[in-house]
Amino acid sequence: MTSLWLDGSATLGSDPLPHDHDVDDLVVGAGLTGLTTALLLARAGRRVAVVEARYVGAGTTGNTTAKLSLLQGTRYSQILERQSQQVAQAYVEANREGMEWLLRFCEEHEVPVQRRDAITYAATSEHLRAARGEHDAARSLGLDVAWVESFDVPFPHVGGTLLAAQAQFDPMDVLAALVASLREHGGTLHEGSRVVDVSRTGRPQAQLEDGTRVNAETVMLATGTPILDRGLYFAKLEPLRSYALAFDLPGDSIDMYLSAGSPSRSVREAVGADGSRRLLIGGSGHVVGRGGSTIAHYDELRSWTEQHFPGARESHAWSAQDYKSHDGIPYVGELPRGGGNIFLATGFDKWGMTNAVAAARSVSARILGEPPSWARTMSRRITRPSGALQIASLNAGVGVAGVSTFIDAEARSVERVPAEGEGYVGRSRGVSRTAVSTVEGVTCALSAACTHLGGTVQWNDAEKSWDCPLHGSRFAPDGTVLEGPATTPLRPAEDE
Ligand SMILES: Cc1cc2nc3c(=O)[nH]c(=O)nc-3n(C[C@H](O)[C@H](O)[C@H](O)COP(=O)(O)OP(=O)(O)OC[C@H]3O[C@@H](n4cnc5c(N)ncnc54)[C@H](O)[C@@H]3O)c2cc1C
Repeated sequence: MTSLWLDGSATLGSDPLPHDHDVDDLVVGAGLTGLTTALLLARAGRRVAVVEARYVGAGTTGNTTAKLSLLQGTRYSQILERQSQQVAQAYVEANREGMEWLLRFCEEHEVPVQRRDAITYAATSEHLRAARGEHDAARSLGLDVAWVESFDVPFPHVGGTLLAAQAQFDPMDVLAALVASLREHGGTLHEGSRVVDVSRTGRPQAQLEDGTRVNAETVMLATGTPILDRGLYFAKLEPLRSYALAFDLPGDSIDMYLSAGSPSRSVREAVGADGSRRLLIGGSGHVVGRGGSTIAHYDELRSWTEQHFPGARESHAWSAQDYKSHDGIPYVGELPRGGGNIFLATGFDKWGMTNAVAAARSVSARILGEPPSWARTMSRRITRPSGALQIASLNAGVGVAGVSTFIDAEARSVERVPAEGEGYVGRSRGVSRTAVSTVEGVTCALSAACTHLGGTVQWNDAEKSWDCPLHGSRFAPDGTVLEGPATTPLRPAEDE
């Protein structure tokens, strides 16, 4: 299922790796975080290479809804519940800097951007408290929000907080401009190059899937969730998947809306190069691998759209995942036990358009000299009791998902070839946890044990993938890694 942005986007191609396999900075991952970090370093005159496991935008950035906004759902009330006003203020400053940098970059590189108001709204009176709370939190942090009782939109609402003149764009336009600019500054891009490990024997050395080794002074893991387990970030992050649909939109232009509370609904429009407009509806999220039938999540969004935008004709459907930190503040900085030369950025929780750029700014400034003061404030934050509770409950959820999916798998036996598009996990010939699926006429039987930490993968019936309910790794029907912390494919069933 291809996103509106990736559909028809030009391939950006690969450059040859530097002949001595030696660079100043190796950036792993060609999403918004990786490409912005790479460009900032290349502009400073460093030799930079970006290695991307799949293709530019393959991760979350090519599948986002790309609202560039300082009003971010109910983010500020969530942060203030778990962090000090000072840390929350640093988060606003980081995001403001990220937003301003990206708007400047788009203007200088003629990337189309549309200015729109951003609104966090209450769909019913039950959600008014959350929307009002966000209004007050945003005001306390200096954002010029206004409370509005009624909007000119066809879906139910009872008021919301509005921040004027935020922005939206096509994220693939931005990534393409970043790649072009990186190349102009001597940086290189290498698609189809998965990093499977980064070792430290003096300088960091990254090992690619094909055995190639690349040496660098610094390595930046811009891989969505970090691919190295040092620092145990997988245990402090919640991988959240959600869904998006695009529709032909004959009606009036619409601003950027996000509901406060559940079920979440995200609304914006997309403007094509020819001026055509599409309506984007997002939401219906859940923890990766724990949402039951994923087709049902698309259907929920479809029926909401049919009800409130009758006649809208669907053109695209896709889903994506992002990672939530325990306190709403991203984890950005040095990887523990990385010798001060390996960096990471994760935990943007669906607000990466500003946060990715802020993270790139923070890490590149750390490599080049002094990071900004907001970066120091955020990285030195203390986990308060409410944050510790959040980490504990996150891991309790992981434990329950691990046990229940394991028992489920042990209870069934693999006794038949799945129908087209079907997959299920069971026991075969006494061998435990076999994941068997049939897609496009090809039946594959694999070990159902995730290669990250052994969770039992679950069939994603909409995307036709195997998704791990523990830490969000995802695999194609043939076992190839799609995303998440895993770096190696699911093993053949016989190996279990
Ligand atoms: C449904 C949805 C809607 C969203 N909407 C918004 C929004 O409206 N506004 C907003 O601000 N944010 C939004 N976000 C969040 C935002 O899109 C992300 O936070 C951001 O795109 C993350 O960028 P990234 O570069 O860190 O990660 P990614 O874009 O995921 O890039 C990581 C890259 O690393 C590569 N990679 C992974 N492992 C390896 C490896 N081992 N070796 C080499 N490469 C590797 C991947 O293939 C991928 O290309 C949304 C997120 C979702 C899920």
